[in-house]
Amino acid sequence: MITSAVAVPALLIAQAVPELDGADRDADVSLPPDLADPSPPRASGQPDGEVAAGRHRGPAPARRTPPVPRVPEQGPGTFQVAAAPAVSTEGATTYRVEVEDGLPFPASQVAQFVEETLTDQRGWATRHRVVRVDGHADLRIVLATPETVDELCAPLDTGGRLSCRNGDNVVINAWRWQFGAESYTGDLTGYRRYVVNHETGHALGYAHVGCRKPGELAPVMLQQTKGLEGCEQNPWPARADLVDH
Ligand SMILES: [Zn+2]
Repeated sequence: MITSAVAVPALLIAQAVPELDGADRDADVSLPPDLADPSPPRASGQPDGEVAAGRHRGPAPARRTPPVPRVPEQGPGTFQVAAAPAVSTEGATTYRVEVEDGLPFPASQVAQFVEETLTDQRGWATRHRVVRVDGHADLRIVLATPETVDELCAPLDTGGRLSCRNGDNVVINAWRWQFGAESYTGDLTGYRRYVVNHETGHALGYAHVGCRKPGELAPVMLQQTKGLEGCEQNPWPARADLVDH
C-alpha cells in the first residue's frame, strides 16, 4: 500500500492549470471561472450539464443489472499502485495507475484497461508515447472515491461526481467509472475509454473543443460527460481530435 500524497514534479506536463471535466472552456486558462461555474446549482442554476448531472446523486444515468459492486462515497485516501513491468521510458510521458483502497476495482485490472486505452492506435498513442510505470512518474492516473476526488481536484469543485486533471494528477471519479454518463448509456466500456482519454488528453496539453458538426464523431476533448452537442459518442482521439480539419 502506498500513500500517494507526494506531488510528482511536472516534467512533461503541458499545462499546470487544473482541468475540471465539466467546467467551462475557460478552465484551460483561468481558474476563478472554474471555481465559480461548478458552484452548486442551487446558487446559480447554471445548466452546465456535467456539473448539473453530477450534482444529482439520484439514479445513475446508466443503470446496470445486478450485481453491482458498491462504490463508497469516501475512502481512506490510500492507494494501490498497479505493478508495471520495467520498460524503457526514454522520451516518453510516464504514468502510474493507482486505485484507492476500498474500491471494488482491482488496481491491476484498472491499469490494464488504462494501458490498453493509452496505447491503442485509435488513441493518443498515434502522437504521444505514454508508458506505464509503478515508481516515479510524470502523471498519476488515479481512480478514487468521490470525496477523495474532491480533495485531489481541489480547489476545483467536482461535486463528488466529476473527474478532473489537476497538475500531475489525472483523477477519475469511481462513481463515473461505475455508472458512466448518459451520453454513453449502455456502453460503460466506451465511457471509461472516453474519460481516460479525455483527462489524460488534458495532461498531454489538449484543451476542450466543441462538436464541429452535428452527426460527426465527437472529439474526445469535447466534454462528453456533459453531452454530445449533436455529435456521436466517440472515445478515441485519433478518430476526431487528431484528424486534420
Ligand atoms: Zn475536460
